[in-house]
Amino acid sequence: MIQKPEKSWGKNSFKKIRPLTYMTMTERLSKNNFFIDEHPHIVVDRSICAGCEQRTCISACPAELFVELHDGSIGFNYEQCLECGTCLILCSKDGALTWNYPKDGRGVSYRYG
Ligand code: SF4
Ligand code: SF4
Repeated sequence: MIQKPEKSWGKNSFKKIRPLTYMTMTERLSKNNFFIDEHPHIVVDRSICAGCEQRTCISACPAELFVELHDGSIGFNYEQCLECGTCLILCSKDGALTWNYPKDGRGVSYRYG
């Protein structure tokens, strides 16, 4: 955000203006707040995931909450979820994800989009 100089515009006014700050997506996401629900709002059925070859959730989740574990099963942590719905839209197996929004205002609070 451009900040006006404190006094009238003059020869050296622009020296007083703070430069525009650029934030990467990672920096923006790090500013979000999470009011974590003790009950997961997304539940993964690993028995269904076991038959999935695409595993689009791993590459598509912007918060990188899905991982492939050493035994080949899917690991998932709901606590930093951005509630974007991408995993549910792209998942190719019916019933693999049970998806709800967190209850009672819990979940993510965006600060920088
Ligand atoms: S959540 Fe969906 S896309 Fe991800 S491994 Fe399970 S079945 Fe595959
Ligand atoms: S809703 Fe979005 S952020 Fe949350 S787990 Fe699914 S893809 Fe990741």
